[in-house]
Amino acid sequence: MVELKHTVVDELPKIAEELRATFRSGKTRPLAWRRHQLHQVARMMQENKDEFTKAIAYDMRKPALEVYAAEIGPITERALKSAEQLEEWAKPELVSVPDWQKSWQPTLTKMPKGVVLNIAPWNYPIILTLQPLIGAIAAGCCCVVKPSELAPAIAQLLADLVSRYLDPSAYRIVNGAVTETTKLLELKWDHIFYTGNGRIARIVAAAAAKHLTPVTLELGGKSPVIVDPSYDLELAAKRILFGKACNAGQICVAPDYVLIPRSQQDELVEAMKARIAECYPEGTLKSDSYGRIISDLHQKRLKSLLNATKGVVVTGGQTDDDRGFELTIVKDVGKGDSLMSEEIFGPILPIVPVDSMDEAIAFVNERPHALVLYAFTEDPQVKQQITDTTASGSLVFNDTFQQLSVNETPFSGVGESGYGGQVMKYTFDGFTHLRTTIDIPKEAEPTLEVRYAPYTAEKLSI
Ligand code: NAD
Repeated sequence: MVELKHTVVDELPKIAEELRATFRSGKTRPLAWRRHQLHQVARMMQENKDEFTKAIAYDMRKPALEVYAAEIGPITERALKSAEQLEEWAKPELVSVPDWQKSWQPTLTKMPKGVVLNIAPWNYPIILTLQPLIGAIAAGCCCVVKPSELAPAIAQLLADLVSRYLDPSAYRIVNGAVTETTKLLELKWDHIFYTGNGRIARIVAAAAAKHLTPVTLELGGKSPVIVDPSYDLELAAKRILFGKACNAGQICVAPDYVLIPRSQQDELVEAMKARIAECYPEGTLKSDSYGRIISDLHQKRLKSLLNATKGVVVTGGQTDDDRGFELTIVKDVGKGDSLMSEEIFGPILPIVPVDSMDEAIAFVNERPHALVLYAFTEDPQVKQQITDTTASGSLVFNDTFQQLSVNETPFSGVGESGYGGQVMKYTFDGFTHLRTTIDIPKEAEPTLEVRYAPYTAEKLSI
């Protein structure tokens, strides 16, 4: 049993003040210093791979391959690439202006926002905790990081390692739960980056509003999958299940439900059943390639959603005492079903039969904007229709989850799925203030003459 050592609440204002003093001293500004800290993040990941893998296995039995592919690998790569690209991101940008303003040299200077707070969730407890930190380091900010208490082994490991690998006068891990986070939110920050659910996001945004602090909200929701019946259904089944089975469906971008024309529903279901048998011949509960649910409470929530469904469970549905939950497919799920009432965030995949692609699109549009909209189709017209008539944080054709491996695009929600973005330069941008700098030379005076009183008729006619 890992005991998470909570940070003493009374010390939190002191920690914030220490970081503010460091920021004011200018220590975090030089690019070479930032690059060193970024290299240290990569070094921390590489030198402690086994500890990270063990801790995450303790917290949620996440298979090692998933930890390397979706947490340790990308964090190492992104820390190194951020260090490599930093100079380009941070350089001042001269703005193109009309000839008469050219001598003013309007420039955008990339200023670190200051001392920032990063509140992270449990489901990808390494990458979602360290990725915003990488952006804060790159931007030249100081940062307090609050890992999720629901992944205590990782939270404790991060507290131990970050203090050893990074400069503690600029970067601190604060551990704890609601009490500690509530205290953190009372303090004044220059930016708050929150990843988690929409209910807490509202608490975070309201607390930030008291200090007019800008916020990034990386949230979730029900990410739909639309399947065009002319698509290869075996491949669709394979690719949808990949995004649903990883981390036992506890992914913000997991396919939440599938919309498919009624006549093709059974064909897709059979393809999914065959695929599950192929990937997990011993069954998901006994497989080493399949994770566990984060807590008994979360397992219970999933069980009650499943117990209340009016759909037909075609495979799965079993649980065990070790927080296991079988990969479960439910067909004939209707609009008002329990499985459509909230983000599933677990290994249950409802299939909602529809009568047409138009009905599928209307179904999506009746609901809050999703973090991702997935669509399986090779028809350019259908792609265009979906692109033009729907809204979501991202739109992904013909695969699931894999989009997060693209370092060059922002990952962000829209509406209920959040605002602001992240990954590499986009995280840097979030923690950076674009300061306009203009220097109007004495020699520009003749071109400015017109603005001065007296406002003569001659000036009016120019
Ligand atoms: P969680 O329970 O770990 O909570 C997230 C953070 O909020 C934790 O650090 C926690 O301590 C803090 N918190 C909890 N209660 C609080 C309170 N009352 N006041 C202030 N802070 C509080 O994680 P979760 O919310 O269950 O995460 C799952 C959700 O996050 C899902 O909706 C998922 O879709 C979403 N998510 C989004 C992304 C993304 O990048 N868009 C990534 C992962 C998860």
